[in-house]
Amino acid sequence: MKKEISNETKEQVFKLNARNRLDDLLKVAKSLRPVDSNVEQMILKEVSELKSEAKILGLTEFTHIASLVEKMGDANEMIPFYMKRLVVIALEELLEQVRHTHDIQKRLPKVHDQTLIEALREDHRQGGPKSMLIVDSDLLFLNRVAAILSEAGFMVEKANNGTDALRKVLDKSFDCLVINYEIYDTNGADFLSDLSEVMTHSLLPIVIIYNDEVIQTQVDSKKILADDTFVKQIELDPLLLSVQRIIARNERMKQQVYIDELTGAYTRRFFLEQLESLYKQENSKQEESTIAIIDLDFFKRVNDTYGHTVGDEVLKTFARFMQSHVREQDVFARYGGEEFILLFPGIDSKTAEKQLNQLREIFSKQKIAVSDDVDITQTFSCGIVEIKNEQLEVMTPTELLNDADIALYEAKKAGRNQVLVYHEGMQAKNHKYKILIADDDKLMRTKLFKQLAKGNWELLLATNGEEALSIAVSEQPQLILLDGWMPKLDGFQALQKLREDVQFKDTAIIMLTGNDSYEDIAQALNMGADDYVTKPFSIIELEARMNRLLIRKDLR
Ligand code: GH3
Ligand code: MG
Ligand code: MG
Repeated sequence: MKKEISNETKEQVFKLNARNRLDDLLKVAKSLRPVDSNVEQMILKEVSELKSEAKILGLTEFTHIASLVEKMGDANEMIPFYMKRLVVIALEELLEQVRHTHDIQKRLPKVHDQTLIEALREDHRQGGPKSMLIVDSDLLFLNRVAAILSEAGFMVEKANNGTDALRKVLDKSFDCLVINYEIYDTNGADFLSDLSEVMTHSLLPIVIIYNDEVIQTQVDSKKILADDTFVKQIELDPLLLSVQRIIARNERMKQQVYIDELTGAYTRRFFLEQLESLYKQENSKQEESTIAIIDLDFFKRVNDTYGHTVGDEVLKTFARFMQSHVREQDVFARYGGEEFILLFPGIDSKTAEKQLNQLREIFSKQKIAVSDDVDITQTFSCGIVEIKNEQLEVMTPTELLNDADIALYEAKKAGRNQVLVYHEGMQAKNHKYKILIADDDKLMRTKLFKQLAKGNWELLLATNGEEALSIAVSEQPQLILLDGWMPKLDGFQALQKLREDVQFKDTAIIMLTGNDSYEDIAQALNMGADDYVTKPFSIIELEARMNRLLIRKDLR
């Protein structure tokens, strides 16, 4: 007697069979270049056969997507160039479907609390819409979530693979990135590491989505630096809430990171990001731009004579003056201490020089009240460098800033209260410096070594304070990067020992501190560090600081 085959078995058989056939089709589709319309027809025919089988078995999700694939085929007859990719994606989608039919609800999540959507929409109406990039190779999920996010008022862009996602992130700034850990051309960890290679400054919040708990458990041990992680589930509410909260937190952080608290000018970091984006914009290459570094003259005397609070007031007065005299599109930032920096997009150095000289004249005559009956005046010196179109191809931001810095220090040497434009003859002595990197964290050392290796210097490595001291004695580096927390002798102790030793009195020392603790920073500066950088830092910023310390040594 013939045994009746159960529907479940039939379904299993169908899935196995479909999986193999789709796998084969996928191989064929991937090898097509350009798409051969006969093969295209063959693929569509196979899909439609599978669809009929699935229909008989009542696999509605499969038949639904198979119809979409067929439609894609029809719609794209006009644009064969895209056809291959669409077919590949569609087939991958079908394969995904065969693998995960039971997960369909999680792949088509819903919002449980509709008032949440309303609330988010209202938020966006008031605070301006936030932009979002969502990345998932599962098109069902991608489209569904994108639709929900749009409904909630986000401006949504989609990508179904890592390469596309990376390109989009580079082209445009998003307020948040939501990415599936498993995308067909990459995984979350690799994507994040690629991202950090190309975007040193990014403050882009990232949320990772796992397809299921199994992957989450496997991956969580890798300690991925996402702002939040989720496992796909039937309801999308927690993801929406988290995204909104993360964006809000990030906005507050940007405010702190981009605006200098004392002067209200932009921060060095913001400036560097703007400079980097100048590099990215195609159209900026049509016209030249200018960078100007400004340093107040003999400012230490103001502090010494009238106290720090008055010094602060002078800094604020200067910043307000500059802000009210530059254009909307110019970036005026505090570079550090009593140094400021300006980016004039679309303005050549001649024009900038003229304008800055005018500002210098006006400001140097302006009376600044330091008490009820005492007024002072304050001058500044300025170094300018023009960014020519061609230079964006060959010079790094660091090199440009160096040149502006050299011009500034020439202005100081020439008697201060003047503006000088950089030219070749100003080049500082160009010998190869020795740089010592002391950090106990292997990852940090390797990263620094790798990223600084491109510069014109010789790099030495130490893993603790004691080792740093002995290498300093034998190698006599011109600059030392000291991590604050190290075993044996920590960075602060090493700093103290170095400064006690007369042979290191001119050695430039930059402290790398683990957090933004003012105590640590103040302690480091008091103990004789020339500068400090808080982790995590951008390599461009670190290089800029290293270079300017080295230039100053040369001009001394
Ligand atoms: P030069 O003309 O060579 O630039 O002389 P200078 O005195 O301006 O330069 P120097 O670099 O020797 O001193 C800069 C001073 O700026 C030292 C520091 O006390 C002061 N300074 C840095 N940041 C601040 C700040 O936030 N507030 C105040 N009040 N002073 C600051
Ligand atoms: Mg200075
Ligand atoms: Mg100064």
